[in-house]
Amino acid sequence: MRFSPEKLNIPDQRMKPFIDPEEIWMLIKNTRPDKVRVREVISKSLDKKRLSLGETAVLVNSVGTGLADEIKQGARELKEKIYGNRIVLFAPLYVGNKCTNNCQYCGFRVSNRDAIRKTLTDDEIIKEVEALEDNGQKRLILVYGEHPDYSPEYIAHTVKIVYGVKKGHGEIRRVNINAAPLSIEGSELLENRG
Ligand code: SF4
Repeated sequence: MRFSPEKLNIPDQRMKPFIDPEEIWMLIKNTRPDKVRVREVISKSLDKKRLSLGETAVLVNSVGTGLADEIKQGARELKEKIYGNRIVLFAPLYVGNKCTNNCQYCGFRVSNRDAIRKTLTDDEIIKEVEALEDNGQKRLILVYGEHPDYSPEYIAHTVKIVYGVKKGHGEIRRVNINAAPLSIEGSELLENRG
């Protein structure tokens, strides 16, 4: 399944909003699904196919159809199909807290003048990963604010460092990324170089 930003009303550009609230509200206000349509969307979901915005609006507006339990059951089934009964824990490693955004709940927000901005050096990343390996951690999530300094190239560079750190019997087997949304080219670069 490939993400197709070229089909969105607002083009996918790095550091620019891409969510179109008008389109979302138009769909929510004008979608009045019946039972047949809701079941079609549940079934598409269970086939692990990505739902369009319009199809998501069908589920959001299904209140009058009395199918809430079928939607919940579908969600449970889909979760079982994809994840089973697994819970995966991972440790966070904060690589850098520079951010150009201003989410009110987040200490990284640009308006937070009290924050000391820091990006780990390569050596500091290595030391942090060694400490995490000493602690028995095998899975990490690397956290970066949304900032031009944290380009796909930079993220790929840090991921490579992390995978390269082996201390004693310790090693990191899985690295997750918490960063700004990436373009298709950025994701591909990360996949190939990370
Ligand atoms: S780090 Fe993420 S959540 Fe925090 S202000 Fe930046 S974009 Fe928002």
